[in-house]
Amino acid sequence: MNFSIFVGVGVAAIAARVTFHFIDKNRIQQEIEARGGRVVSIKWNPFARGWFFEKNERHYDVTFVDRSGETIDTTCKTSFFTGVYWAEGPSRVEKPRLASRLHCAKCGYAMNAEWTACPNCGYPVGSG
Ligand SMILES: [Zn+2]
Repeated sequence: MNFSIFVGVGVAAIAARVTFHFIDKNRIQQEIEARGGRVVSIKWNPFARGWFFEKNERHYDVTFVDRSGETIDTTCKTSFFTGVYWAEGPSRVEKPRLASRLHCAKCGYAMNAEWTACPNCGYPVGSG
């Protein structure tokens, strides 16, 4: 018995898997950068919904920042010959609004937090 054959096959399978992964990531990154975006993360997703073991294609969860600075969370699939397919329209990630807008207690003018009085009506901040 020559166990090195089995070891060799196993190593080759893993090496192919890793190689594909790098090729795929590179391809997805190029796709995003071609649209003016920037990759945040690309994660292999072997359990993508509805795509399990489908036709040798590989599926990735992708997060990127698009041209306008929005963070996009999406899924794509890719195979060696067919390029990158985006699973669904990119969905925008809701950013939590940290700064809640202040309004003048008298006239409702949108206030900057540093202002001490309303520039519209002169009403002092915090005295309402
Ligand atoms: Zn005011």
